[in-house]
Amino acid sequence: MINFEEAGKRAQELRALLEYHSKKYYDEDDPEIEDYEYDAMLRELEDIERAYPELITPDSPTHRVGGHFDNSFEPVVHAVPMESLQDAFSEAEVREFDERVRKSVHDVCYVVEPKIDGLSVLLEYENGVLVRGSTRGDGVTGEDITANLKTILTIPLRLPESLELLEVRGEVYMPRSSFEQIVREQELEGEKPFKNPRNAAAGSLRQKNPKITASRGLDIFVFNIQRIRGREITGHKQSLDYLNSLGFHTIPFYHRVSDIEDALREIRFIGERRGELPFDIDGAVIKVDDFHERELLGSTSKFPKWALAYKYPPEEKETTLLAIEINVGRTGVLTPTALFEPIQLAGTTVSRATLHNEDFIREKGVCLGCRIRVRKAGDIIPEVLSVVSRPEGAQTYQMPQACPSCGAPVFREEGEAAVRCDNPDCPAQLLRLLIHFCSRDAMDIDGMGPAMLERLHDAGMIHTIPDIYLLDFERIAQFDRMGEKTASNLRAAIERSKENDLARLIFALGIRHVGARAARLLAQHFGSIDAIIAADEEEIAAIDGFGAVMARSVWEYFQLEQSRLVVERLKSCGVNTHCREQKQEGRFTGMTFVLTGTLSGYTRSEAGKVIEDLGGKISSAVSKKTSYVLAGENPGSKLDKANKLGVPVLSEEQFNELIR
Ligand code: NAD
Repeated sequence: MINFEEAGKRAQELRALLEYHSKKYYDEDDPEIEDYEYDAMLRELEDIERAYPELITPDSPTHRVGGHFDNSFEPVVHAVPMESLQDAFSEAEVREFDERVRKSVHDVCYVVEPKIDGLSVLLEYENGVLVRGSTRGDGVTGEDITANLKTILTIPLRLPESLELLEVRGEVYMPRSSFEQIVREQELEGEKPFKNPRNAAAGSLRQKNPKITASRGLDIFVFNIQRIRGREITGHKQSLDYLNSLGFHTIPFYHRVSDIEDALREIRFIGERRGELPFDIDGAVIKVDDFHERELLGSTSKFPKWALAYKYPPEEKETTLLAIEINVGRTGVLTPTALFEPIQLAGTTVSRATLHNEDFIREKGVCLGCRIRVRKAGDIIPEVLSVVSRPEGAQTYQMPQACPSCGAPVFREEGEAAVRCDNPDCPAQLLRLLIHFCSRDAMDIDGMGPAMLERLHDAGMIHTIPDIYLLDFERIAQFDRMGEKTASNLRAAIERSKENDLARLIFALGIRHVGARAARLLAQHFGSIDAIIAADEEEIAAIDGFGAVMARSVWEYFQLEQSRLVVERLKSCGVNTHCREQKQEGRFTGMTFVLTGTLSGYTRSEAGKVIEDLGGKISSAVSKKTSYVLAGENPGSKLDKANKLGVPVLSEEQFNELIR
């Protein structure tokens, strides 16, 4: 064991690390490390605190429930604390738990059930009606997410029995099928995909807009009665059976046992099946069944002493790398995948794992024929941990120089890990372009989301952008789960989009480096798409607010034969190619603004639009010519620069005053 001084230092270091990763996990739904790595650090801290209790701090992560509450939701104080669970990582620890329990209660019965990897919530019913739903938060205060929880169809809004009071605890999770679908859509839209179903569930549930939650395919398993009035319940199994009868989805396959060896058999049984389940579990929970015995056993500040979570270890195995497959994502990124001799891991047969990118391959020294170590936790995606040995004379793998989908040369931009194919005609990228074209900030075609476009693409009905305007709606109405009404709504939305202003159309074309603002400048400056096509590079670069890179990109785009063809076909379909929006004149005409920090009432693009609507311009850098710097919370170096140059700085409040 390390000495006191070293222990003190390490404890401090561990607390800082745990705090950091807790924030990423609970507040940002974006963990950087695996759960077992987090658990190992927590364990280490527990061991230190056990050896040197004087090092325990009141706010140590070993003594409090992780998670915070976000001020953007109404706080909910839980009548019964929503506790966490103590962990066990070996069967010996489960037996020790049993010994501890039997010191207080002798003829104990346990219930063993899967530990669902999701987000803990509380549902409150009064007189049989759902009145509130909340997150666990820090265990004492959670967030009111009633509207979001109501979108989960398996949560009963009204119970068949009018109980005076019922508070039920459950785990909201994202089934693997929903997760796979959402990640596919996120990739298609070029968004950062969720890391695992747990983070996806948490991110989806804590949305300000319940419609987004509703679209995420969430589900729930309930596993505990926190409070009940109007019925006598004395044990856990009885409560699960009762909740079932009320119409709740309770935790699946719970079993009551009276012997710890039977409990361990159940734990192993659940573990062997975890790969086959349609949802993620991260362990099994063993709980004392009898409520009176639970009371006798009591709780610590963090968890009940009557329950234990057994966490399954991630499995690792060695295998031989047979080949590396390159897939071109819809964003044009080439992703290498390792194909190896099949192995059994965490209950499933695994034969492929992502190699991420060129740097990963080089850093690990991956080459064809080498022996690799592969790991799979409960998660869906296995990972290559390391290269164990390399065959003699093996060469490190080189990424291809040409796109495997279209044959165009590929490139890697400085500072980026991804190797990319940039060919606008690459079939692998068409879908991404279509999604961008129809998206809200572009042509805003309601009902033409990633899933719909994927269907049309798979049905061979869309090969290029203008095909959107030539769809056969009778055929679409025959699609599974479609119908005449939806098809005709879609047709109407497509028709409406023909009237969009030119700025939207230019942005929708997906020209590299041209965002919504640049598209607007182009539209307002030239007035029609024909004028843009006819312009030379210098003319485009002369637009106020346009850089040389943007100008070149626009010019190059319209030089391409296929781009001009797309424009011609869009025109012949009746899509507007003229600018109807006049350059705004207003209070900010002639003024340039720079934005820094986070504003509470606007996103950056909203604030930018307000300024532009009043005739002002946005710039990314502060100079003597800047009229105002609009500074939100946590402003960056731009504020220092403004102060140095004597440029006036506006707070959000002052800005609001000014535009009023
Ligand atoms: P926990 O997830 O280990 O256990 C408690 C939770 O289990 C409860 O809140 C409950 O909602 C849930 N649960 C699911 N099924 C259940 C069942 N059948 N019965 C009872 N409870 C059930 O503990 P925690 O305090 O919520 O969070 C710690 C977890 O979060 C650990 O797994 C840790 O690895 C992970 N974590 C990871 C990171 C990271 O960076 N990867 C950071 C922080 C926390």
